[in-house]
Amino acid sequence: MRQHYDVVVIGAGIHGAGVAQAAVAAGYSALVLEQTQIAAGSSSRSSKLIHGGLRYLETGQLRLVRESLHERATLLRIAPELVHLKRFFIPVYRHTRRRPWQLRIGLSLYALLAGLGPATRFGTVPRRDWGSLDGLDTTGLQAVYWYQDAQTDDRLLSQAVIRSAQQLGAELLLPARFTGASRGAANVSVRYQYGGTEHECDATVLVNAAGPWAGSAARLITPAMPVPSLELVQGSHIVLPGPISQGVYYVESPRDGRAVFIMPWHDGQALIGTTEVRFHGDPAQVHPSSTEIHYLLGVARHYFPRFRASGAAEPSASFAGLRVLPAGTGHAFYRSRETLLVMDDAAHPRVLSIYGGKLTTWRAVAQRAIGLLRPSLPQRPLRARTDELMLSAR
Ligand SMILES: Cc1cc2nc3c(=O)[nH]c(=O)nc-3n(C[C@H](O)[C@H](O)[C@H](O)COP(=O)(O)OP(=O)(O)OC[C@H]3O[C@@H](n4cnc5c(N)ncnc54)[C@H](O)[C@@H]3O)c2cc1C
Repeated sequence: MRQHYDVVVIGAGIHGAGVAQAAVAAGYSALVLEQTQIAAGSSSRSSKLIHGGLRYLETGQLRLVRESLHERATLLRIAPELVHLKRFFIPVYRHTRRRPWQLRIGLSLYALLAGLGPATRFGTVPRRDWGSLDGLDTTGLQAVYWYQDAQTDDRLLSQAVIRSAQQLGAELLLPARFTGASRGAANVSVRYQYGGTEHECDATVLVNAAGPWAGSAARLITPAMPVPSLELVQGSHIVLPGPISQGVYYVESPRDGRAVFIMPWHDGQALIGTTEVRFHGDPAQVHPSSTEIHYLLGVARHYFPRFRASGAAEPSASFAGLRVLPAGTGHAFYRSRETLLVMDDAAHPRVLSIYGGKLTTWRAVAQRAIGLLRPSLPQRPLRARTDELMLSAR
């Protein structure tokens, strides 16, 4: 007899891991199929911030910011080894586009949306302390605002969520590539390649959490189901030798005013990103272009003169990831960062696809996904609440 699972998940990125955890916590059996390795896609190539997204206030995405800040608080509580509160600095120079009054309004709203706890304090760094800011250029500097947000290691976080799901009984097959599915009245028949051969299993529901591959995975499902119009936007980071230790610097690119983060990273390095460039092609082939690397180097050198010195001139590493955004004509910055959950049938769902979203909101999205699939799932006793399951680094 073929193996049957309540929930089969395509992809072991943060969303696939989260859905598997939410499924087993809710009492269901779950299988995750991952074509390469845990967090092989966007979930190891992000800016690694667990944040509300201060800049999303500019595009009026208040619901997303509030939910992200709520999730930030939850993750600080359940994953203290993996998610760390950091000071973020916003330097304001004579040429900076966002003026102090705008920052004060933005930071006040951000604190309000976060519920005004100790993590929501903000202020300005006194001029006498500017010398302690990792060598930040003070020429023309008018003020430095600070606030707090959190940083993680996205790959380790995804691994921790998968481990938590496995501890509650989820199965992970890897490398196992989803190759197609047929939706029936009571089940989904799922096909995948594993160990060099084709396999099949049955699922009560199938969750497509294939990240940048989610559109192509959805097209492998018959009868065909709606696939929204999507766009892949590449974001690159570089790693520079030389520590950034005081916190995360949130600066504007001197070239076009885009927001760029200059962050502390492992082994006394600095992580700088990101860019936003439309991507066409095979998501597995995404890599930073030399134009992007030079753009990010230019930002780092502009704000931190020590990165102009020859020893610190070249990145020790670079990587690129893909955001999945609703298609549109304007700049990617203004596009919604909300996660899109698309089902084949709202009343009797068999397949749910997850498009886009944020690392920060994985737990809330996973809970929402399982909630939407409930009409098709059997009644099972709850095993755990995901906002109480502790996530550890090992
Ligand atoms: C440059 C950049 C910076 C970002 N920065 C932040 C940030 O600082 N904070 C934040 O909150 N969010 C950030 N994000 C967003 C966040 O990284 C993503 O929303 C999140 O990682 C998406 O996770 P996912 O699980 O949906 O996709 P992925 O992590 O891409 O996972 C999809 C998985 O599916 C697997 N897969 C695909 N096809 C198949 C198949 N046929 N069979 C089996 N497996 C398959 C892939 O191998 C992959 O492991 C950023 C995104 C980018 C691109």
